[in-house]
Amino acid sequence: MWCRASSSGRTSRPQGFLRSGESCQASAGRRGLVALAAPWHHRRPLFPKSEVAVRAALSLILFLVLAGLAGLAGLAGPAAAQPQSPEQFLGRAVGQDRDLFGWDEILSYLDHLDQNSDRIELIELGESTQGRRFVMAVVADEQGLRDKDQIRAQVRELYRVDETDEARARELAASGRAILAFSLGVHSTEVGASQVSMEILHRMVTAEDPVTVRAREKLITLLVPCMNPDGLDMVQQWYMQTVGTDAEGTRPLDLYHPYAGHDNNRDGFFNNLVETQMWSRVLYHDWLPQMVIDEHQMGQSGPRLFLPPFDDPVSPTVHPLVYTQISAAGQQAVSDLTALGWTGIATSTIFTAEWPGSVRSTGFWHNMLGVLSEVASARLATPLYFPEGSLQARGRGMDEYARSANFLAPWPGGWWRLRDIMDLERDLTWSFLRWAAEHSEDLLLNFYRMNRDAVATGRGEAPYAFVVPADQLDSGSPARMAEILRAGGVTVQVAANDLQFGDHRAGPGSLVVRCDQPFRPFIVEMLGRTDYPRLEQNGETVRPYDVTAWRLSELLGVRVLEVDDAVALQQFELSTPDLEAVSGQRVRTDRARIPATDLASHAMANAALAEGYRVRRISNGDFVIDATANEISQLATHHSAQARDIDVVGPAAEIAAPRIAIFSPWGGSMDEGWTRLVLERHGFEFEQIRPGQPDLESKADGRELAERFDVLLLPSIRAGILKDGRSGTGNGKARLGEATWPEEYRSGLGGQAGEALRAFAEAGGRIIAVSASTPWLIDAMGLPAIADGGPDGDSYAPGTLLRVTLDAQSRLSMGMGEEASAYFANGYSYRPRAWPLPTQVAASYAQSDLLVAGFLDGAEALVGRPAILQIPVGEGEVVLFGFHPQRRAQTEGTFKLLLNAIWPDPR
Ligand SMILES: [Zn+2]
Repeated sequence: MWCRASSSGRTSRPQGFLRSGESCQASAGRRGLVALAAPWHHRRPLFPKSEVAVRAALSLILFLVLAGLAGLAGLAGPAAAQPQSPEQFLGRAVGQDRDLFGWDEILSYLDHLDQNSDRIELIELGESTQGRRFVMAVVADEQGLRDKDQIRAQVRELYRVDETDEARARELAASGRAILAFSLGVHSTEVGASQVSMEILHRMVTAEDPVTVRAREKLITLLVPCMNPDGLDMVQQWYMQTVGTDAEGTRPLDLYHPYAGHDNNRDGFFNNLVETQMWSRVLYHDWLPQMVIDEHQMGQSGPRLFLPPFDDPVSPTVHPLVYTQISAAGQQAVSDLTALGWTGIATSTIFTAEWPGSVRSTGFWHNMLGVLSEVASARLATPLYFPEGSLQARGRGMDEYARSANFLAPWPGGWWRLRDIMDLERDLTWSFLRWAAEHSEDLLLNFYRMNRDAVATGRGEAPYAFVVPADQLDSGSPARMAEILRAGGVTVQVAANDLQFGDHRAGPGSLVVRCDQPFRPFIVEMLGRTDYPRLEQNGETVRPYDVTAWRLSELLGVRVLEVDDAVALQQFELSTPDLEAVSGQRVRTDRARIPATDLASHAMANAALAEGYRVRRISNGDFVIDATANEISQLATHHSAQARDIDVVGPAAEIAAPRIAIFSPWGGSMDEGWTRLVLERHGFEFEQIRPGQPDLESKADGRELAERFDVLLLPSIRAGILKDGRSGTGNGKARLGEATWPEEYRSGLGGQAGEALRAFAEAGGRIIAVSASTPWLIDAMGLPAIADGGPDGDSYAPGTLLRVTLDAQSRLSMGMGEEASAYFANGYSYRPRAWPLPTQVAASYAQSDLLVAGFLDGAEALVGRPAILQIPVGEGEVVLFGFHPQRRAQTEGTFKLLLNAIWPDPR
């Protein structure tokens, strides 16, 4: 109920888009009218207005009974009933202090809307990672929903620019509807958006004010109420469980996306997560929206809201119309919200626009407006009070918390609560709806223009195409590349003939990605040699907001060639087959060799072990599997692995499935989550170990661990968290206030863990540590090495691809070739202390051409230095990765280094 007067004692301001005076009253009056008189498109209301006050449980039961009756009644009449408000339906108001709704409750309300309005359709996109319903609401007036397939087809015409001339585009834009897509609740601790989604949708389908009516008439609005339902429930359940305790407002004990935690919006171009896959299908295949809007929350004590324009740097490959229109929508929203009395809105600061990782920003490279809003947080649903003068500026472009051109009305302070976040997000949503409805024609026409320009550029200038030669080190990698590009809406073709261009040749079966496609910016950003747009200010380099490298060829370790000769491209004989069809594998004998060069071989080897077949590994790393020809063929087909007949096996080591423990701190670790995803994808089983479970306090504990596990994985986790649990802002502690986890969860591996881990290794265990974990491990175990680097080291590279050279003698480089592109996020180099070496340097940062892609300062601190150490300890070994071989499950080109470290040495 957005017309209810505020009782929270906040600083006074109008209460929302429709709350300001007359229009609010008018709207309330009209809604009353709807309930009593029911316009033609609504069935007779199920409830007289007076019944709205029925209490929660009663209301729900009554609803279910009546909904059943309505179902029967539906046989007699075509229209639906007038939906209830969330408060009426759920029995309590949304957005109250210290209260959050879980996913089942939200879904039940969305189903109610779906069943009782002809202006909304709830579409099941699939299931979340943990199997929850993943839904999208499609909202428009009745006509719009009836015509939605035709509207989609019209937008598609604006995308297929070769078949659509300017005159037709103008006609389509004038008569058509722009498509808006909201992705709410991406980050589960940013609780406002998914909660308010119920109120937003209710208002979108029931309100009769001119703005809402026009939005329904001019637009098709897609709205995903929650991009991560699993995390919503984790946060909501932990919060409700801890309300009233010292832990009220702390983060949950587990990662709030099962694999990605907060990183779930770093997956936009790569599509590792099922949620991203479903959304990419909506955006780049099924609907082609012009605007993609994420509503996030940021820190607590700065501005109340960030809106575009974005800060520099911007991407060189994005069409300027993407940015100009985002800025226009953002500035209009600042104005609208200011008119409603909102203060504390900042633009052109903190958030930049050159990174294609987030689900919304990936849209930039698809000629879609990826709009971001960031509202200040409370402590989940617990309100916070900010005394005057306590608020702070943060980020470039805002030196102090004071009035400036990009921050015209600073918020003075006061209470800040969930209800404020939701009100602000709702008002913001209406501003975007109003802007988009008013600019529907421009949005559509500009979408056409950007697509047309992309195709024309692809035809008019190099690169004209990218070729992925069929012969690659990893035979499965071109198919992976194709899969990722296709998820991003790119057409990938296959060559039927020999390709010759420039100095290059590639055989039949090579993949060809032509650049004269509407999504050319995405193609060039993913495959081309675009540099990170480095920014200087006052003679100093501005440090990037996030990661700075994402070139797909380097992440996947795939050789890609650029076609700079338009005439040569005309000689290519190309087809567009269904690449998802996997060709069957046939072997003839009951023994097969699967190559170490193929990533898929690891999954197949694990599957063979799980089936109980004999698996061996030969000195070059190839796996040998003994099973019937039929069984081998089936396994190979299932895992897209390349099985070859083999008669004679030389020296080979029997292998068993490694017993793996992976350390997960309380509160989770994103790197740990992504690592689990990598392990699962390749068929490795593992057990998560948590602080104190088991204890690692003595040699005996370490020896016990060695009886249970062969391998201990320490993903990249900061020293303080490894040792003591979350510290500083940690122990689950919110940034403000005294909230803290229960004592039992305020712990890490503990001060004696080094001794236990040494005993584990001495007894034959292999410890594999990644990046941030390695300095702690060196210190705790007393390993003979020094780690240099980290966020305060002599080099700075927040997410950068670096060339590493590999030592062919190490088992880690089996199937890898001589060098690789390594993902380095302020990682480490090492100085082994004991020469001559018992320690093996498995990889070094390259002596020359170190930087492959992204931002790097202080290269000299890394050049030629060891990047991976293998340190023998007793019967076992410690492997230290200075970079991330498995970063965000995206660095497939270096996965084999990690997987080889997990397997025992076959030699
Ligand atoms: Zn966020």
